[in-house]
Amino acid sequence: MRASTYPLVDADEAAALVLEQTPVLEVERRTLEECAGRVLADDLIAPSPLPAFPSSAVDGYAVRSSDAGHALRVIGESAAGRPFAGPVAPGTAARVLTGGVVPEGADCVVMVEDVQVDGDVVMVPSPLRAGTNYHRVGDDVRAGERVLSAGTLLGAAEIGIAAAIGQAMLPVGRRPRVALMSTGDELVEVGKRPGPGQIPDSNRWALLAALREAGADVTLLGIAPDEPGALRDLVVDALDRADVLVTSGGVSVGMHDLVKPLLESLGTVHIGRVKLKPGKPFTFATIPAVSHPHPSPPPQGGGKKLAFGLPGFPVSSLVTFEVFVRPALRKMQGFAQLQRPTLPVRLGYEARATADRTEYQRVTLRRVGAELVAETTGSQSSSRLLSLAGAHALVRIAPGDLGVKAGTIVEAIILALP
Ligand code: AMP
Ligand code: MG
Repeated sequence: MRASTYPLVDADEAAALVLEQTPVLEVERRTLEECAGRVLADDLIAPSPLPAFPSSAVDGYAVRSSDAGHALRVIGESAAGRPFAGPVAPGTAARVLTGGVVPEGADCVVMVEDVQVDGDVVMVPSPLRAGTNYHRVGDDVRAGERVLSAGTLLGAAEIGIAAAIGQAMLPVGRRPRVALMSTGDELVEVGKRPGPGQIPDSNRWALLAALREAGADVTLLGIAPDEPGALRDLVVDALDRADVLVTSGGVSVGMHDLVKPLLESLGTVHIGRVKLKPGKPFTFATIPAVSHPHPSPPPQGGGKKLAFGLPGFPVSSLVTFEVFVRPALRKMQGFAQLQRPTLPVRLGYEARATADRTEYQRVTLRRVGAELVAETTGSQSSSRLLSLAGAHALVRIAPGDLGVKAGTIVEAIILALP
């Protein structure tokens, strides 16, 4: 059978190959309301300084520091949004509120707690230091300063900065449209009672969550039967509207494993097996866009579509998603950082290696003094999703027969911190 002839590709090489084939999607402009979780596509430059005017940091009196220790005549008030027009001349003070403009002539603000007021006269302490209690023009941001870099994830603070410099819309990378399909005659909809030999389609929901976390816009195709014609129709129809196809199941070498031959008939299968545990049958293909009249705008990046055939075992599908699909989806959106962060951790268990494949073992992390110690999540069977549920990190164990001794420092791929 054809599928078994695919060479076993080194896991790192396979990951690099996937990224090489992955296009960056086009940029779109979105209102700030829609920007959370999106990726900034261009550097963001401040057109003007922040603050734009000398702005009081406290409620108090704007004075000249040379008037320290004097009784000063209060000549007006500068509240937030209602500046005082005149200058502060020697011997005078202007009441100023937080966020109010510090009037010309004044070079410091004295806190209301530090003065004595008697009618329209205010007694200020001595000494006073010029520049205190207010923010000067450009203290926070200089005009022309790059405040955010292209490729940055837009979170609360980043969106706040964009708003503060007056940008109502931002250029962001488009979210990849992903069609998600489960394959297998044994699968039933979750919530329906499985018949003899049937199981709930759990991968769909696990992968949907993972895809959304990675920024994808997901269309659910449901369950495809192990029947070539039906599978083909579903896939061809879905690829019409999607940038990426993600399937689970049907990529082993069994009689009913139809995904590889199908992808081969539609495009180029670049990877059909990887030296990875779990996830050996991982399959990756590119499919040229069909050139028939199309209601939606033509895709960019040459119109090439990506297809990921993930293995059916629940842990295998999620681990291969982590290793191959998530970085690709991040590249498509324009993220500068494609990979999860890593941290050095001390292995708290004896890690056995697999002879011919890189193993991604699931671990929990625990703080011991200044270190993080990794403990195994138990049986690493590719069907046992409990090995991944609650895992804080993945630890890569290189192929061979040596394994890694307990107590060794290894680099862990961080999924969540304890
Ligand atoms: P396959 O890759 O199709 O040979 O499937 C490998 C194993 O994963 C089998 O035990 C399947 O029943 C199981 N499996 C496949 N698809 C799913 C799914 N969507 N949800 C849960 N288990 C699945
Ligand atoms: Mg199957």
